Amino acid sequence: MKEANCIFCKIASGEIPSSKVFENDRVLAFLDSGPLSPGHTLLIPKDHFRDLRDISGEALGAVLAVAPRIADAVMKTTGATGLNFLQNTGATSGQAVFHVHFHLIPRGEADGLGYRWNAGKYAESELETYRARIAKALGSST
Ligand code: 5GP
Ligand code: ZN
Repeated sequence: MKEANCIFCKIASGEIPSSKVFENDRVLAFLDSGPLSPGHTLLIPKDHFRDLRDISGEALGAVLAVAPRIADAVMKTTGATGLNFLQNTGATSGQAVFHVHFHLIPRGEADGLGYRWNAGKYAESELETYRARIAKALGSST
């Protein structure tokens, strides 16, 4: 399925050019045009899904099936010693393109990118409140 006015649908169909590094019938990987580091690659399902909440299991499976190979190639060819595999869902998280995509960001020791979010702490009752809410929404009996 393709969505009108979606830039990544247009990239997937070839209507808009991209620097492709891998493609099969379900997925496409191409260089991010605004890289956080050289080799920063985006991996997308060819079908249109908005974000992590609505991607089908089948499309996600196709994405995840190729992610290890792409990560390995990106790291080997850039000399990276680490890699962030990242997906932003919703504008608040930083999502700017609303066709679900997965970032593969090669990392080096002194790349200056950093990656340290300020971890919070739960009060004990809060931990159980959130656990129970999420479990309930999932229909989980645990
Ligand atoms: P988000 O913030 O939605 O997780 O990431 C969107 C990414 O898509 C950004 O890193 C941005 O640089 C990249 N991007 C946006 N438009 C294009 C484009 O037309 N071509 C390519 N190759 N990357 C794009
Ligand atoms: Zn799309």
